[in-house]
Amino acid sequence: MRRSKPLFGLYFFVIGFCTCLVMIALARSLGDSDRKETKLSKATTFYKLGQCPDCKVISTRHWKVGKLKDNNDLHLESGKRMGIKPFASNAEMEKELPGLLRRRKLKALDEKAGSYRLKNLTHSQPYLVPKAVDLLEEIGERFHGKLKEMNLPAYYLMVSSALRTNESQQGLGKRNINATQNESSHIYGTSFDISYKEFLPKHEKPAPEGFCRHDMMRHPLAEVLTEMSKEGRCLVIREVKQACFHITVLE
Ligand SMILES: [Zn+2]
Ligand SMILES: [Zn+2]
Repeated sequence: MRRSKPLFGLYFFVIGFCTCLVMIALARSLGDSDRKETKLSKATTFYKLGQCPDCKVISTRHWKVGKLKDNNDLHLESGKRMGIKPFASNAEMEKELPGLLRRRKLKALDEKAGSYRLKNLTHSQPYLVPKAVDLLEEIGERFHGKLKEMNLPAYYLMVSSALRTNESQQGLGKRNINATQNESSHIYGTSFDISYKEFLPKHEKPAPEGFCRHDMMRHPLAEVLTEMSKEGRCLVIREVKQACFHITVLE
């Protein structure tokens, strides 16, 4: 009986010690998950307008940008020369699409492989003639190259329109005066639109209202388009109403 007391004390000591170890381990693991969370939230940081560090870097440099106002008739001419026979209706497109893809007259835009993401395409389909897909990919690569030169992270281009049918083009005309005034080269699958108001960071979460959507990125993009126009690779129109560059493949 006399010896059981110190033994009792020893048990207490061991249990207390183990509890302490468990508590310390728990606290450390909680600390770790805290750190992970801040890292995650840092990767998806949204900046208030005018406070985005990447856009600030862009704004400090002089960009060599041309007028980017090629006549729409030239876009149409290139579309007729290099594109597909326009689809009268969406139903016709759905019927003929598999064959055109099989014969490599059209190619699907593959966001996963590219430097771009598709916006919600309400009046167009994510297909273009293969040379226009190549052009879009090269624009993206050269755009990323310019960002890399300045040690900036990559941003995705946002494609806001691609292949249209005559039917979807007319549907657009109801809301959009520009589309009815001019015939559009989108029906030939040779043209696509890239937004100049919105660029998507690698985390792919669009910024909420009032936060930077990285429109400063339009400058390096416009410089790429200026260079590629001079090289005779594409035609470009800066569309003010749709806030996009309308681009047609030229060769
Ligand atoms: Zn920004
Ligand atoms: Zn367009």
